Amino acid sequence: MSIINIIIYFFLFITGTVIGSFCTLAVYRIPLKKDIIHEHSFCPNCNHKLNVLDLIPVISYLILCGKCRYCGEKIRIRYFLLEILSGIIILLFGISLNLSIEILEISKYCYFIFGILYIITLMLIAGISKEKREIPKEVLLFGVSTMSIYMIYLFIVEKANIDRYIMYLFVMLVLLTIDTFLIKNKQRTSTAISTLLLMQFFLLFTSPRAIVGTAIITLLFIAIGNMKKKKIELPIYFYLCVSNIILLILENFTYYY
Ligand SMILES: [Zn+2]
Repeated sequence: MSIINIIIYFFLFITGTVIGSFCTLAVYRIPLKKDIIHEHSFCPNCNHKLNVLDLIPVISYLILCGKCRYCGEKIRIRYFLLEILSGIIILLFGISLNLSIEILEISKYCYFIFGILYIITLMLIAGISKEKREIPKEVLLFGVSTMSIYMIYLFIVEKANIDRYIMYLFVMLVLLTIDTFLIKNKQRTSTAISTLLLMQFFLLFTSPRAIVGTAIITLLFIAIGNMKKKKIELPIYFYLCVSNIILLILENFTYYY
């Protein structure tokens, strides 16, 4: 492994921890309808405004020994672990694509960037559905619009055949419109279906068998979850997102190596 590769991998890991940090914040704020970009972060215990030094992913936690700088209250280790996990996910995703800077492969870089946006969408769905048992429309819209932009890119620049993806996007948009304007305060069936479609979306580029894989891993997770605790309300989307990310990385590994 060359020095350049190590630098790239290190950079990927750091990017992943920043994404993880952003996602934990977004998972907390989106259901509360709070601004995720402009509003400052506060310590939930003493309400002190956190500065830049308190917000560096992973590092801040280590420097502050897992405690708030202002009131000494323990910061949940979960955030620290999630940042590291997210770093590992983005790192593995990068490695799975066999990215190199010696050969400039524009299409692969684009796939990589949109892949990261896709993974962010999945992490948000996973987090929010686990915490709140709901899927906010903002997240779905974010996913659908980034995927639409990717479609436009594929069609114009790479002259790809995007018919079946257009179908997917169209169905999702119709469902989201129905959900927004027609069904109010009801069981969100259309949200559920569009989430499922969105989840399978990026895997279509890799291979259809990945979709079968996702289903199998999800069922495994559910089985394990059922064995551990009896009668738990299953955050099915959480399991789906996790298995989707795993499959995405695995499929890329088999494809690019
Ligand atoms: Zn504090």
